[in-house]
Amino acid sequence: MSELVIDLEAEKKEILKRYRALLRACKPTMQKGDKALIRQAFDLALESHKDMRRKSGEPYIYHPIAVAQIAAEEIGLGTTSIVCALLHDVVEDTAVTLEEIEREFGKKVARIIDGLTKISGVFDYNSSLQAENFRKMLLTLADDVRVILIKLADRLHNMRTMDHMPRDKQLKISSETIYLYAPLAHRLGLYAMKSELEDLSMKYTEAETYKFIARKLNEKKAERELFIQSFIGPIRDILLEQGLKSNVYGRPKSIHSIWNKMRKKGIPFEEVYDLFAIRIILESKPDQEKADCWKAYSIVTDLYRPNPDRLRDWVSSPKANGYESLHTTVMGPKGQWVEVQIRTTRMNEIAEKGFAAHWKYKESSSDSGLDQWIQKVRELLKNPESNALDFLDDFKMNLFSDEIFIFTPKGALMQLPLGATALDFAFEIHSDLGAKCIGAKVNHKLVPLSHQLQNGDQVEIITSSKQSPKEDWLNFVVTAKAKAKIKSSLKEEKRRVAEEGKEILERKLKSLKITYNTENIHKISNYFKFPSALELFYAIATESFDLKLLKEFQASEKTPEHKTPDRIDASQIEGLINKVKSKDSDTLLIGEDLQKIDYKLSTCCNPIPGDDVFGFITVNDGIKIHRTNCPNATKLLANYGYRVVKAKWTSQKELAFLTGLRIRGIDEVGLINKITTVISNDFKVNMRSITVDSNEGIFEGTIMVFVNDTMHLENLTKKLKQVKGVTSVTRFESQPERHGRI
Ligand code: MN
Repeated sequence: MSELVIDLEAEKKEILKRYRALLRACKPTMQKGDKALIRQAFDLALESHKDMRRKSGEPYIYHPIAVAQIAAEEIGLGTTSIVCALLHDVVEDTAVTLEEIEREFGKKVARIIDGLTKISGVFDYNSSLQAENFRKMLLTLADDVRVILIKLADRLHNMRTMDHMPRDKQLKISSETIYLYAPLAHRLGLYAMKSELEDLSMKYTEAETYKFIARKLNEKKAERELFIQSFIGPIRDILLEQGLKSNVYGRPKSIHSIWNKMRKKGIPFEEVYDLFAIRIILESKPDQEKADCWKAYSIVTDLYRPNPDRLRDWVSSPKANGYESLHTTVMGPKGQWVEVQIRTTRMNEIAEKGFAAHWKYKESSSDSGLDQWIQKVRELLKNPESNALDFLDDFKMNLFSDEIFIFTPKGALMQLPLGATALDFAFEIHSDLGAKCIGAKVNHKLVPLSHQLQNGDQVEIITSSKQSPKEDWLNFVVTAKAKAKIKSSLKEEKRRVAEEGKEILERKLKSLKITYNTENIHKISNYFKFPSALELFYAIATESFDLKLLKEFQASEKTPEHKTPDRIDASQIEGLINKVKSKDSDTLLIGEDLQKIDYKLSTCCNPIPGDDVFGFITVNDGIKIHRTNCPNATKLLANYGYRVVKAKWTSQKELAFLTGLRIRGIDEVGLINKITTVISNDFKVNMRSITVDSNEGIFEGTIMVFVNDTMHLENLTKKLKQVKGVTSVTRFESQPERHGRI
């Protein structure tokens, strides 16, 4: 290893230079006394991080300075946030305590930093530490949104500087980002940040696809620029004629959003038409904004024919995150659809900086959609029952959804996520109204609880005092609030019933001479594969468990080797991790370690040699190998990063792996025959199954084949594409598996 020479003098100068750049970025929001406060925070951060360096070798202080700079420049936050951003890692990583922070900077700052500090100490391997941390962060969010905003700035800087991290860390951090942080940025209206986070995640988790799309975009750049100029030229001219001051430009869509479209519609890059959107940013007087936007709309649609189904008016009813804009899709001169977004400078700043910009323009915030959303988060957090992972799932579900607007009988407006039912609406108004709901009147017509509401519906809830929440309600409610309330009410009921089962079991055990204690109850639950003692009691009370079976358990206790460990414990996980790490490298070599370490290829993504993969330690199946782009990977990596093992393929020609191909084409006579000939005769590949659907001349088939590695698969795909009539061949993406216990 070569020696690293560090020029401390030059570093000191660089630190000061970066600090001064930060001060310049803070200027717009700075007031008297703020500069001294920021300096005080900077000095404390500099001093306490002085012996630390980042993975890249740079002084650690570069990181908090950069985070503060993002907070100021890209989110538009003020001095308190800048102070917190500078100090955000101090309590977690250095000897400075929260008490000292409070003494020096006050309660508010200390509270925010506490929210930014991870939970430490011992934890149960059955729970997800990450999920608990997210929950802690969200608890503070309800108290002060700045916690999330600074956390987002922190995450963005870490994602921007992740090249020096080991591969498994890159995967874990990218997955967390796509799982939670990007949706959060979206929900808070930080669109620019959301896109960047998504693209950066994709760069690590889908490196090949990312590079492919980036290259494709670059190839046609000049041609696209030319088209955009010819498209916006006439718009600019007429806007000017009509006295509307504006800035008109074309904006490329993010790589991640293009990829999303390709996946969702199952189309190749060439068929994605909207690689960019046109933006018209108007400089309007406050009272002219809406009129100006519609004037511009009228100009655009006089020039180009609009698609009537694609008009979105978020100027009259802004999105819950504050987004305001007019979107339309028009037919361009070369016969291609072009999306045009129309908004004012104020609206644009909100679209870019989100929350903070919103506050700047809106003095009273009580009626804003974002405030309603934070109110919802607060209510959700009040429910102490829910397990952190469930909570996160419910919470996430509400992050990405589009909204519909529903009227109460008295004409008040409520916002609900798309797909919400009458029952969601009832719970939204009041949890008692939800619990007692038996039906609803939508636009004066009687409908069942599960009726899906449409934008603009007027809804009246019908209740009965005899009603109580039912299990199947969970199948059709979509809001986190309704889910949480129904679950907690069902749990309450279950606990009441389980109490009877517990008493029955106590008597039964006495007659069998088995001591009734926690340990034995735990053993019995495990033996009969109940996830918890509560479930066991409940099954006994409802007679879905036969007490005679207890004899079986009693017998098994006498032959201890047959006991199956069901609960994963720390030593078990650490044992597996150590087994992998005790070798020369800490990477699991698939193919070679077969004898020494127990692993399986997961069935949710069917990895084959050549795929980018990782190992995941499971409760019952040892180590499972997943593709990094497996539909389940994000969730596993984001929530259980500590159970991830690096894995790599050793070369092996003799083994075959199952994988799936989806083939589309024009249904011609003999097409199936041609395809199977290529597979079995030309390629000598074994086929496990083939299913074919033919509809109005369109052929769609799924074929499961055994291949050696990705190269082999690629060659086969190429050959199949050459078959006359075949239009596309893609690797099969299976659906996310439902995990019970992972
Ligand atoms: Mn940090």
